[in-house]
Amino acid sequence: MFEQYAFTASERFMRYVQVDTQSNPQSHSQPSTEKQKDLSRILLQELKEMGIADAELDEHGYVYATIPSNADADVPVICFCSHVDTAPDASGRGVKPLLHRNYTGGDLVLPDDASIVISPKDFPYLEQLKGHDIITASGTTLLGADDKAGVAEIMDAAHYLMTHPEVKHGAIRILFTPDEEVGRGTAKVDMQKLGARFGYTLDGGEAGSLEDETFSADGVTIVINGVITHPGYAKDKLVNALKIGGELLAQLPKKELSPETTDGKQGFIHPVRFEGIAERCTLEFIIRDFDTALLKPKEDFLRELTQIIVESHPGATFEFTVTEQYRNMKEVLDQHPEVVAHAKEAIRRAGLTLKMESIRGGTDGSRLSWGVERHTNARDAYR
Ligand SMILES: [Zn+2]
Repeated sequence: MFEQYAFTASERFMRYVQVDTQSNPQSHSQPSTEKQKDLSRILLQELKEMGIADAELDEHGYVYATIPSNADADVPVICFCSHVDTAPDASGRGVKPLLHRNYTGGDLVLPDDASIVISPKDFPYLEQLKGHDIITASGTTLLGADDKAGVAEIMDAAHYLMTHPEVKHGAIRILFTPDEEVGRGTAKVDMQKLGARFGYTLDGGEAGSLEDETFSADGVTIVINGVITHPGYAKDKLVNALKIGGELLAQLPKKELSPETTDGKQGFIHPVRFEGIAERCTLEFIIRDFDTALLKPKEDFLRELTQIIVESHPGATFEFTVTEQYRNMKEVLDQHPEVVAHAKEAIRRAGLTLKMESIRGGTDGSRLSWGVERHTNARDAYR
């Protein structure tokens, strides 16, 4: 059915990556950088030119648009989502995309920095791409394929569906988000306005890979209060909170339960921040596991360890707070197995080899999955 269709994804991609959309974790505004809207405005314009009349860009930097249903059957509204921002770690300014036609194997050398070589030795996946065209950056910037590849794919799919009314489908909502790279991609999504029952984030890795599972995640904050006196007259009185915090960190398990010593489906307890003064200090942890039920035993372990250490310092006290961060989207997806089944079938029909993957992290997908559930099930545990 694609015989006559001239795909627009790579042409769009080469244009979109040249727009600097780097997000900024230090910023508290939404979007975190105004320049992300430079691309969103282009997308808005192009959607309108396709005849998508309701396309809109809101003040927070979200683009919403609908490919209207042309089906007779009543089918659920689905959403395709991707993010316009690029990672804060590498410059997104002055990106020069290079098209390497008909890759024949071997190293790809980037002309603006000859020391940067993309080699099959480091990226074995390249071996599978012989005969394909490959797009890279020029060596001094990131490319921004994460996630402008997803953006370009969705735009091309919209273009295809709008020009091929004979292909029947239900209503498809398009959502382009800012700030995914700084963890706030869904912060201001209006789920009511989005109005989709199911959604797919196009933000993956290798062609054919499908991710239906993420970590479940809590945050723990421990505040330790010491006893402060003038250090010159502190004998048998002063209790230094910083030293208690240091003791706690030193007694965390090292060979297990740490991100640096675990992989696959193993979870962990990970300190991410330690600050304070002799009188009082704060330790922040992230707790991760694929099985939500295994978060609590980790938190109990950490609480008991804290209690033992603090109690060995008479006068010291502590506060221990657990905050839910996000939940494994598989728990929601398992209630709607058709969502993943359809994605698998789509990958198969595209002639690709399916590769199921688990994400040792979170995604917009986990937040959106639980957001939708919260919307329909009023799940009060979700924050
Ligand atoms: Zn991404």
